[in-house]
Amino acid sequence: MSHKEERATWFEGQGLWQHIPEADWRDWTWQLKNRITTVAQIERLMTLTPDEKAGCLFASHKLALAITPHFFNLIDRNDPNCPIRRQVIPRSDESIVSEEERLDSLGEDEHSPVPGLVHRYPDRVLFLVTDRCASYCRYCTRSRLVSNAQDYNFHPEYEQALRYIEAHPEVRDVLLSGGDPLLLSDKKIDHLLGRLRAIKHVEFIRIGTRIPVFLPQRITPELCEVFKKHGPIWMSLHINHPREITAELREACERLSFAGVPLGNQSVLLRGVNDEVEVMKTLVHRLLQMRVRPYYLYQMDLITGGAHFKADVRKGLEIIEALRGHTTGYAVPQYVIDAPGGGGKVPVNPDYVEEITDDEVVFRNFEGRRFRYPLKSTPVKEKTGQVLPAEIHP
Ligand SMILES: *Cc1c(COP(=O)(O)O)cnc(C)c1O
Ligand code: SF4
Repeated sequence: MSHKEERATWFEGQGLWQHIPEADWRDWTWQLKNRITTVAQIERLMTLTPDEKAGCLFASHKLALAITPHFFNLIDRNDPNCPIRRQVIPRSDESIVSEEERLDSLGEDEHSPVPGLVHRYPDRVLFLVTDRCASYCRYCTRSRLVSNAQDYNFHPEYEQALRYIEAHPEVRDVLLSGGDPLLLSDKKIDHLLGRLRAIKHVEFIRIGTRIPVFLPQRITPELCEVFKKHGPIWMSLHINHPREITAELREACERLSFAGVPLGNQSVLLRGVNDEVEVMKTLVHRLLQMRVRPYYLYQMDLITGGAHFKADVRKGLEIIEALRGHTTGYAVPQYVIDAPGGGGKVPVNPDYVEEITDDEVVFRNFEGRRFRYPLKSTPVKEKTGQVLPAEIHP
């Protein structure tokens, strides 16, 4: 990791916004009000490449442009290939639509018994509570509805969704997502969590959010009290690159952890952003330092105009292989492909088992050494003092 990267990873302070009173900077409503949403605003702060400029002009038809000042500071304005920049500044590639891509690549709308609720798995539901986010990720799986750039007109029907959950005792697990649930007011979050907690068969409640990354100021002590009150509330963060880990994010994670919120992380494998072993290794180690357990690594969904982000699955497998055994299992996320059309998340794993019969399993370890694990027991007639070699040497 270069010196430059090391420094940027611990980015702290107000960067381009030195002239703003610190109280404003730390106020999440100030951050939202002062988001960068137009080409003109970006161009006052940095030089866009012609390709990015074309992308920005197209963006209004696909997924709105919005970047919080906090996150904008993390962009390397001199590097068009900056991994932070790629995630939030559109490129002209977004206008290229490929044959296999869909607006609703996971078939969520078909699995939706009531608006805003996706019931795909037997025991859990995805509850989409808003279509707004603090900043917009150019690879967003839900760009069809998020930000409303495509006139999807998402209107979550909280009552209808809650009544569906109440009426379905098999739903023991509710995942609040969107959009970003933490953009709702404390009062609304308090209300929703309270209603869900009151449902006897709902055992597990989690929130999927990228707010701690885009808008760490939102993780206020008051919000943490709401989580404490209704806890345990689990949280899945969405961090893709070690440079997203700022002092502010670390503090937000600490407040959440101390409020009793177990933290996991979901990353999307993105070409040119984090499809490198060293980048992912640094990321997972930094996550553990913040009490965040890597949960999933997603293969990019086949969303319209997202092909330029698609990483090679072999690269994803290489990353998992480079982690497993080489570092703690706590640092290894599960790599998954969400099956196109609505098959759900399917694990994709490197093959360690080479052969399996009634008699034995032959497998390799993280160093590539081969071992045999016998499935049949052979009683020992006389003590030979010899240890059966389990490792297979070529
Ligand atoms: C990802 C997802 C969930 C949650 O799955 P977990 O494996 O429990 O994290 C639930 N519903 C839908 C539709 C999902 O896409
Ligand atoms: S925060 Fe999540 S829902 Fe919002 S744009 Fe990014 S990926 Fe999409």
